Amino acid sequence: MLSDKDLTRYDRQIKIEAFGKKGQENLKKAHIVIAGAGGLGSSVALYLTAAGAGHITIIDHENVELSNLNRQILHWEKDIGKSKVDSAVEKLTQLNSDIEILGIKEKITEGNVLSLLKGADGVVDCLDNFKTRFILNDAILKLRIPFFHGACYEFEGRATTIIPGRTPCLRCIIPRSPPEKKVPIMGTTPGTIGTIQATEVIKFFSGIDPLLTGKLLVYDSRYFTYELIRIEKNPECPSCGGQ
Ligand SMILES: [Zn+2]
Repeated sequence: MLSDKDLTRYDRQIKIEAFGKKGQENLKKAHIVIAGAGGLGSSVALYLTAAGAGHITIIDHENVELSNLNRQILHWEKDIGKSKVDSAVEKLTQLNSDIEILGIKEKITEGNVLSLLKGADGVVDCLDNFKTRFILNDAILKLRIPFFHGACYEFEGRATTIIPGRTPCLRCIIPRSPPEKKVPIMGTTPGTIGTIQATEVIKFFSGIDPLLTGKLLVYDSRYFTYELIRIEKNPECPSCGGQ
């Protein structure tokens, strides 16, 4: 049920015919896990908080560093040295005190992933490495919940929405982990890709089509191009077996 305050706060999006009160109610009920409170996570968390996603859990094990501040807009100079989840939760609760926001300072591993995702209706991939992305990919296949993938490199960003059983999984399209290193990133790129991921989450939970399912969106902010590439299940996929 939406309160009078909800109706006022979310008025401009409730007015969208395809979204409406029903969309807002469904978003209010959803429990969304944001994996990573960095560049992508900042953008995703701000927009989902503003949009009224009812239950948000943010997972990150790192502390804020000076070199994060070119892109991780949830964290400010005063937060350097503080845990990213504490810094994120502090800002987000000031933006919207009507929703439930939980921060978990933990590194996602094969051993804890299923308990970290307990009760989640969807997971947003705001990570910076493929090793952990693949752990989440396998977990969401097991739990049969959607996975909203995003990744950035320099001026380029990518996003796709993975629905177990319906779309290719992350490992269908990226069979092996690229080498782990600190990649160069133009600060605005995760802002754009995170906004796209948050839009996908809102659309998914309010039943608005079409989604980025079976499609990889490739965005280039240097030349301002958006490409939609059709992606297919890999029958040999070690994670989903092309299911
Ligand atoms: Zn697969």
